[in-house]
Amino acid sequence: LPERRMLRVAVIGAGAAGLCVARHVLSRPDVFAPPVVFELSGHVGGTWCYEEGAGRSEDGRRIHSSMYRDLRTNLPKEVMMFPDFPFDPHLSSFLPHQEVRNYLEQYCQEHEVGPRIRFNTAVEKVTPAPGGRRGRTAWEVKSSDPSGCQRTDVFDSVFVCSGHYSDPYIPDIPGIANFKGKVLHSHDYRYAEPFSALSVVVLGAKASGLDISIELASVGAQVFLSHGNARLTFPLPSGIQQSPVVTEVDEDGNVCFQDGSVASADVLMFCTGYKFKYPFLDAAQLGLDIQDHLVSPLYLFMMPPAFPSLFFIGICKIICPFPHFNCQVQFALAALGGGVTLPSRSQMEDEVRRQQQDRLDQGVQQRHLLVLDQLQWDYCDALARAANFTPLPPVVRSLYQETWRQRRIHPQNYRRRNYRLVSDSRWEL
Ligand code: FAD
Repeated sequence: LPERRMLRVAVIGAGAAGLCVARHVLSRPDVFAPPVVFELSGHVGGTWCYEEGAGRSEDGRRIHSSMYRDLRTNLPKEVMMFPDFPFDPHLSSFLPHQEVRNYLEQYCQEHEVGPRIRFNTAVEKVTPAPGGRRGRTAWEVKSSDPSGCQRTDVFDSVFVCSGHYSDPYIPDIPGIANFKGKVLHSHDYRYAEPFSALSVVVLGAKASGLDISIELASVGAQVFLSHGNARLTFPLPSGIQQSPVVTEVDEDGNVCFQDGSVASADVLMFCTGYKFKYPFLDAAQLGLDIQDHLVSPLYLFMMPPAFPSLFFIGICKIICPFPHFNCQVQFALAALGGGVTLPSRSQMEDEVRRQQQDRLDQGVQQRHLLVLDQLQWDYCDALARAANFTPLPPVVRSLYQETWRQRRIHPQNYRRRNYRLVSDSRWEL
C-alpha cells in the first residue's frame, strides 16, 4: 500500500498487552504504518515493574503496579508465555516478578518495539474524529509529557492496553471511619515485615488475598482471612484463621464478622480487587457503560459495536493472560485489515446482549460478566478460526487447568513444581 493508505495504530500502554499489539502491527508493514505506543512511565512491562513505594513515585506519578516484592507467578512460564516467544529454558516454571519484566523487555527488544514507544507520555483524551480510512472513524489522541507539553495525533485505530489492576476497588464497610488502625489495599502492599506481630484482617481470599495472608503469617502476623466463599479446606499456616465476611466496624473500632465474632485488629487489608477506569475515554460518546466491574457492550470483549476500530485488549478476568492477548490482537488486526468481516453494529449489539442475558440466566452475577474462566478456551479458538491464525496449543489449556487444581490443593507449595512441555498436547513434571 502507498504509505498514505496504511493504517495508523495507537497503543495506550507498554505492558504485555500493548507490546503484543505493537509486535503484531510491526509484522504487517504491508497493511499498517509503524504504531505509536504511549506509555505513562519510563519503562515497558506495566504491572511487572515493581516499585518499592506506594501512592506516588518521586516524580509525582501515580504508581501503576500492584506488584509485591516476593511475588512469584501463579502460572508456570510454560503457559504464561506468548506462544511464539518462550521464556529462557533454564528458568524454573514459577518465576519471581523480575523475570517476567526481563522477559517482556526481551520481547520488546526482539520485535523492535522500543523505538515506537513514547515514554513518560500520558494519554489524556481519545475522541472519535472524521477522516478515517476504509469507512471507519478516525481517532484523535491527546497526550502530554512530564513538562506538560500536549500534542494531538490522529489514528485509524486505538488499542486500549492500560491494564485494570491498578485502581483499587474498596467495598463500603459500615463504620469504617471508626477503625483506629491502618487501612490499605493490596495495590499498596509491598512486603510482610512491617506487619510482623500485628493482627491483620485480610478481606478477600482470591489470588492476592491468599498469597498475602501466607506472607503475613510467615513473619508472625496474626491473620483473619475474611471471605464469603465456602470454607477453604486445604491446609493453611497456623497464623491464619478463616473468618466470614466483615459486616461493620463497631463504635469501639472492632471489626465485626457475619457470624457475630469480633476482632480487634491493627490493620485492615483490602484484597478486594480492582475497578475499571479509563479517564481518557468519554463512555457516553462511545455508547459504553463503564462500571467498577463491567465495561459494556463490547463485541467479543473487545470492541464497542458503535466504534469497531477501538479495541480493549485483556479486559477479561480469570484468563491465561499473555496467550489470550495474543489471540485478541491477531483477531483485532485481521478485523482492521479486512481479513475478518465484522457483523453490522446492530448485530454486534444483539449478540452481546444475548450472550450477557444467557449468562445472567445461568446465575452469573452482573459484576462477573467479564470473568471468562472455562469459557476462555472456546473463545480463543473461535477468534483463531474467524481470523485464520494458529489456535492455542491444547497443552496451554491442560497445564493451566492442572495449575489451578494444584493451587486449590496446595496453595503454599504448588510453585515448587517444574513442568516441561513434551509436545503441543502434552506436559510432564
Ligand atoms: P499492565 O501491565 O497494567 O500495563 C498497562 C500499561 O499502561 C502500564 O505500563 C501503564 O503505565 C500504562 N498506562 C496506563 N494508563 C495510561 C495512559 N493514560 N497513558 C499511557 N500509558 C498508560 N498474570 C499472569 O499471567 N501470571 C501471573 O502470575 C500474574 N500475577 C499477577 C499478580 C498481580 C499482583 C497482578 C496485579 C496481576 C497479575 N497478573 C498475572 C496479571 C497481569 O496483570 C497480566 O499478566 C498482564 O501483565 C497485564 O498486562 P496489561 O498490558 O494488560 O496491563
